Parts: sequence; C-alpha cells; structure tokens
Amino acid sequence: MTSDNLYDVLIVGAGPVGLATAIALYTRGITNILVIDQTHRFSPAGQVVDLLPNGLKALKLIDQQAYDKIKTVGLDFTQGRRQKSEDGSPTTPKKRFWYQKDLQGNVIRSTPLDFDYWLDRYGEGRVSIPWYSLQTTLRELLPNHIVKANHRCVDLTYQATSITVKTVSDQTRLDNPFAHWHRKESSLSADSNPAIQDCSHSQFVAKLVVAADGINSTIRRNIYRHSPLEQWSTPQYSGYAAISCLQIENISDAVMQALDKTYFQSQSVVTLRNPVAKPEGATTDAPRLMLLRRDQNSLGYLLHLSLDLDLLQKKSPQAIVALAVNRLKEAGFPETLCQVVRLSDLNRLIRRPYYIHPANIEYEQPIWSRGRVVLAGDAAHGMPPFAAQGANQGLEDAAVVGSAIATVITSNQLENDAMIAYQFSKYENLRRPFMEKIQYATLYSHSWPHTEWLQYSDRVYSRELKTIISQFNLKP
Ligand SMILES: Cc1cc2nc3c(=O)[nH]c(=O)nc-3n(C[C@H](O)[C@H](O)[C@H](O)COP(=O)(O)OP(=O)(O)OC[C@H]3O[C@@H](n4cnc5c(N)ncnc54)[C@H](O)[C@@H]3O)c2cc1C
Repeated sequence: MTSDNLYDVLIVGAGPVGLATAIALYTRGITNILVIDQTHRFSPAGQVVDLLPNGLKALKLIDQQAYDKIKTVGLDFTQGRRQKSEDGSPTTPKKRFWYQKDLQGNVIRSTPLDFDYWLDRYGEGRVSIPWYSLQTTLRELLPNHIVKANHRCVDLTYQATSITVKTVSDQTRLDNPFAHWHRKESSLSADSNPAIQDCSHSQFVAKLVVAADGINSTIRRNIYRHSPLEQWSTPQYSGYAAISCLQIENISDAVMQALDKTYFQSQSVVTLRNPVAKPEGATTDAPRLMLLRRDQNSLGYLLHLSLDLDLLQKKSPQAIVALAVNRLKEAGFPETLCQVVRLSDLNRLIRRPYYIHPANIEYEQPIWSRGRVVLAGDAAHGMPPFAAQGANQGLEDAAVVGSAIATVITSNQLENDAMIAYQFSKYENLRRPFMEKIQYATLYSHSWPHTEWLQYSDRVYSRELKTIISQFNLKP
C-alpha cells in the first residue's frame, strides 16, 4: 500500500463532471488537486452526447478556453458527420432538424440541430460530441500529473479534518470496463465489484473529496451506508428501458420506400409515437420508436418504453422482440413498423434498463454531501438520457460546486467544518430543486404538447447560471 501527498481536493472520476470541476478549481489557482479514474487507460468509450445551451453556458463560466475547445471539437464532429450523411444525397436540406412524427408522418415536435438556431434563441449554441472526445479535450486542459488513470476508488475512511481514499490498480485489464454505458446487463447491479486478481493498492489523503464517479458511484454507497439514506445508495430502476437493434440488413426495397415516403423524407433519423391519449386501462406510457436510416437496404431502431424490469431481464431475445412488437401494436403502430422490429438481428439486440438517482428524496439534511465529501453529476442525480441533460446538468454542478470549493479554499477555511457544510448546502440548494424539475421533464416530457415543451426549453436554456450563482453569494 502506497500513500501519496495530502491534497486540498481529490476528485474521484475523470468523466466530464470530474474534469470540469478540476478545471474550475485549477483556473482559480487551486492546484493542489488530483483526479483519479478507474479506467485502466483512457480509451474510447461512451456515445455521442448533445451539449445544449445551459451546459455550454456552464462550461464558459468554468473556463473560456475549455468552452472554446469543446465548441470547436463539437462543431468539427458535427460537420464531419453531416458530410458523411450527405454523401450522394443531394436532397439533404440546409437546416437540420430532429423530428418527432405521429404514425401518419405528421410532425408533432421539431428540434433544430444547428448551433446558430440555439445561439439566436438562447444566447448560446448546441453541439454534439462523443463522450470520449469530451473527456479527452477536458483532460488535456489539465497538467498530466493531475489526472491519474487506473485508480479505482474502493473505500473512504474519515479522519477529523481529512478523508483517506483507498484505491485499487488493476494490472491485467486493458479495456475500459467501467464507463457505465459499457456495462453488461448482468453487471448492472451497482454493487458489482469484479474480483481483481492482479492488483496493487494505494491511498490518497485529501481535505475535500468530490464524488464524480458516475451513476454507479462507489462513494455514494459509502456515504449513505448505515444511514437513513441507505435505500438510495444505489440507482433505482426508472421504470423505462430501451430495446434496440442498431443495424438490420436486407430490408426490402418496398419497405424502405414506404418508410422514406412517410417518415424519413429527407432526414436520416426520425422518432415516431402515437400522440393520442393512452387507451383506457393502459398501464404503460406510449412507446417511442426512433428509426435510423443506414445504407440502401439497412436501418436501425431504438425503442423507448415503460417496462417492468423483470420482463426486460428474464426474457429470451425472441421473447423481447415479440414483446416490443406487441407494445407497438397496442399503441397503434402500423404493420410496416412492427415488421421492421420483427426483423431484428437477435445477435445485435440490445436491452438496457435506465436507472435514476432521484433528486426529490425527502430528507431534512443535505443529501449530496456528507462532511467533507460532495456528490456531483451522475453520482448525485444520474437519470435516463431522454432529455439529453445528464452531462449538461453535470456541467452546471461543476460550475457551482467549483465556486463553492474555491470560496472555502481561497478564504483559508479548509479546517472549518461549518463553513464547508454551509458551502456544500448552498451548492445543493441551488442545484437540487432545479434537478427535480429536469428529472420530471426527463421522465414525462415525451407526451407534452409542443407548446409545453417549448416553454420548458425556454426556461432551461435561457437561464443565466452566472446570475444565479451570484444571487447565492457564490463567486462565479
Ligand atoms: C445513451 C446515452 C446518451 C446520453 N446522451 C446525453 C446527451 O445527449 N446529453 C447529455 O447532457 N447527457 C447525455 N447522457 C448522459 C451523460 O453521458 C452523463 O450524464 C454524463 O456522462 C455524466 O458525467 P459524470 O462525469 O457525472 O459521469 P460519467 O460520465 O459516468 O463518468 C464517471 C467517471 O468516473 C469513473 N469512475 C466510476 N467509478 C469509479 C471509481 N470507483 N473510482 C474511480 N473512477 C471511477 C468512470 O470510469 C468514469 O470515467 C447520455 C447517457 C447515455 C447512457
């Protein structure tokens, strides 16, 4: 067991939120910090995330340079993707939208995808960026010695004015098995701690610990253990799941033409749902089917639906496809769409339950911190990705918790428990009520009328975090 320096702040998790928090501190002159991550080495993981005006505003507040770099990488990625999808397709429109359509092909919601639309409307744009590019770009803004891979936090112990973080380094694994979206279904239980044969142990001591270790947070489990919050220590099933097959080949010309004519038109992605109110007696929400146009005779789909967890996990792939088709039929989807799902390649069938750390837990004390440890990002409020807000909200956390910690450190209050508790409760009071609204919208906004959706978007994207932080007497 080796033991390193005493750090002012140790951040567990080098995902977007941990790294953004580190940058917020570093740019404010707080350099005695360390970020650790369990990944054996930083390597591609995750999918594409959309950074929306609120997330980009938070990033700009954290550090102008981080904002500029992420914006450039995001715009380049979007441009590259666009050129690829336009190859040989002269009909691609200038302005791009993501449409939600009803089962007759009428548009029921449209989301513009271009940076400038968002910039004009909300004072900030929107970019898409792969999770790994987001991580790499942020990581490269910090000196190398501040970010250490291959240190999985396994436990915390508490001293009077510091925390010891125990870590394990795995000498054999080369992949990145831990990023939460790479987990196999069988290991989705937040408790899974693979037995590691060939590993070494270290420990780090820090005055403050930021838990940015994602939805399956080890630190959250640690701080809730043996407390009234114990039942909330692991993520709860949200009631929603995805069933998808992202590549189905050999779709007939007739089916492709029918789908192009009614649904895709000139787009390559479209989401379909039946906007008619739930049939009487229905106990589940209407499913949403995202169709992705691939090559000439191939496409993919992603079906989001409310579903009992047991049904999702215990059924065979054939039975899962049958279940998906039944749910589509019940919701009035036409036979052509049911047929597409029936053609799913069973070897490529994905089922993913979505988990959540609810922000609306009723408790008389702060729930996002205990003493010198504070939760941020998915570790605090992980949720399904339906409203594309997980990383955006996490960046807001990073801006606020970064200010709170900077206030403690720059006023030499690291020994002052009351001051630390006060700053962490300010962070939570500023962020948690808003997160409750975001989580509500995440779970239920798919059935809102377009006007309600627009009002919600205006509220989320027009907010000026800088002003809100100042009102809470935190320095932006
Ligand atoms: C399919 C999908 C699509 C999404 N799309 C969007 C979107 O469009 N927009 C959006 O805003 N959000 C989106 N999200 C959500 C977004 O990806 C997350 O909210 C965001 O990545 C959370 O960041 P984080 O840093 O808190 O956690 P993570 O990104 O999960 O990072 C946690 C980090 O901690 C490390 N770690 C975990 N445990 C330990 C440990 N014990 N010790 C050390 N390190 C540890 C992990 O290796 C990882 O690097 C999507 C999510 C999914 C699954």
